[in-house]
Amino acid sequence: MSFDHLLLDQRLLASLKRMEHEKPTTIQESVLPLAMDQRDILASAPTGTGKTAAFLLPMIQHLLDFPRRAPGPARALILTPTRELAAQIHQYASHLATDCDLNIGIITGGQDYIPQLAKLKKNMDILVATPGRLVEYIANEDFVLDKLELLVIDEADRMLDMGFRNTVIDIATAALNRQQTMLFSATLDSPGVEAFADKVLNEPERLQA
Ligand code: AMP
Repeated sequence: MSFDHLLLDQRLLASLKRMEHEKPTTIQESVLPLAMDQRDILASAPTGTGKTAAFLLPMIQHLLDFPRRAPGPARALILTPTRELAAQIHQYASHLATDCDLNIGIITGGQDYIPQLAKLKKNMDILVATPGRLVEYIANEDFVLDKLELLVIDEADRMLDMGFRNTVIDIATAALNRQQTMLFSATLDSPGVEAFADKVLNEPERLQA
């Protein structure tokens, strides 16, 4: 299989070429067609399998297919457990979306509240965030999620280990109009992850790297 058969925008294909991603990895091969069809995804995919592009490519494609009609809050949200992971995803998304004219932002703990708030107000298309800091903005009504279209929960097993279960469920519940949710976890082999997935996903496709 090649990326060319996936109905991806030329700008994404050019980025993949530039980044030397010649063909999809196993998880990308299984996730991409279903995710581009707006299905919910439950995927077991450890780091190193190419899972980040598996959720970023369909997300960016959706944002390009349906351009923003009016100013407003972020349209797509990626929740990840640590600042380091958030920074990596943010950088990778920026590389993939070069030339796509999308606003990609990052909100994490350990940064001052107010400067990050200014970023939130700036018509962001994709927001990468750690859950703890994001709920502070939601609780203070500085960030609303009712217009969110796409939600990704990355490293769900680690998220649970770090005690973020209820926080992430609260965020997903607030994003009540979302069209698609994708959950990635190093393993699905845990009753905690299954029960968590049941709360946030709608008839997901279950996939493995
Ligand atoms: P991830 O599992 O998302 O952390 O990705 C691990 C690494 O694989 C990253 O450094 C990516 O740049 C790289 N990568 C992702 N997809 C591909 C691909 N299709 N071909 C080659 N490298 C890739």
